[in-house]
Amino acid sequence: MTHLRLPGLVDAHVHLREPGYTYKEDFFSGTAAALAGGVTVVLDMPNTYPPTATPDRLIEKARLAAAKAVCDVGLFVGATTTHADAYLPVAEQACALKIYVSDTFGSLRIDTLDLMHRLFRTWAAQADKVGYRTSAHRSGLGPITVHAEELMLPVCLALADLYSTPLHIAHVSRRSEIELIRAAKERGHTVTCEVTPHHLFLSSDDLPRLGNRGDMRPRLATPEDVAALWANLAYVDIFATDHAPHTLAEKGIGVGEPPPAPPPGVPGLETLLPLLLTAVHDDRLSLDDIITRCVSNPRRIYGLPEQPDTWIEVDAERAYVLADEAMCTRVGWTPFAGMRLRGQVARVTLRGQLVYDQGQLLAAPGSGRVLFGVEG
Ligand SMILES: [Zn+2]
Repeated sequence: MTHLRLPGLVDAHVHLREPGYTYKEDFFSGTAAALAGGVTVVLDMPNTYPPTATPDRLIEKARLAAAKAVCDVGLFVGATTTHADAYLPVAEQACALKIYVSDTFGSLRIDTLDLMHRLFRTWAAQADKVGYRTSAHRSGLGPITVHAEELMLPVCLALADLYSTPLHIAHVSRRSEIELIRAAKERGHTVTCEVTPHHLFLSSDDLPRLGNRGDMRPRLATPEDVAALWANLAYVDIFATDHAPHTLAEKGIGVGEPPPAPPPGVPGLETLLPLLLTAVHDDRLSLDDIITRCVSNPRRIYGLPEQPDTWIEVDAERAYVLADEAMCTRVGWTPFAGMRLRGQVARVTLRGQLVYDQGQLLAAPGSGRVLFGVEG
């Protein structure tokens, strides 16, 4: 039995669903799933109900997270067509700004140039006053993170370039997109990007088997797209899960009549590390590839504080078949069910406290911290 000791991982893209959708997940169940996956920091997206688009909503969300989380939590603010950049007074207390330019779950889609231009312009103007967070400068603003697929990607690159804003591209899934990001990086643009495990380990070929269990945005891409992501891993800064739980009933699975529009999104917090460790076992990745993309790069890109005396212990060789029943997420399923994996989190220590031990959660609700000093 090989035991590995690794730093606590960062999952820079999760949807913990609180407030508004706590029957799917909340700050307690979602951060418990994080610890079970070896993740000690999550960055939570703003498309809750109501959305995290104003100072009041960020403060309310921070209060909920501070009371319930068992790992550390950073909170995104989001732009909406009705509130525009109303988040600006609390921009420094958010881990970053999220803009949904492409189709997704919730009400945050931005689809006019007028509003897009304003969001980049005012974020940059705010940064002129307070700076951007970097390894050397721990206060200030985070990047602008976008869900921008296909032709919306060059729009965001151009706006970020125009205003010199750090830009992070969430869940890249296509060959065309990773190739454009590669070209932008080679030409010196300050763009970073992330890829999810489902876009690395599943493809559209799995859809007949998965049905709505394989429905998310961006959708599962072709095997050619998946191969291009693997071929261009050197240009992928972050592995993040886009943990986006919905119940199986909402997905139309196990119910008589499937709903007309099942919500897109799949859970992923608990399967991130086992999938990546399986890829290490199969010689497709190195451990260093994981640490770079799940610890050091997200920390640098979002200016996250270090977590002292924090580590995870992993049984790296343990082989098992992944099952829905083993999941801690409130929705209790995984799109990777049935896969044979290697590597399982045995123990998690956060700031010197053993918080997870062989399937047992030992942390009390509220022991996680909300990052960037949001006043609860
Ligand atoms: Zn997402």
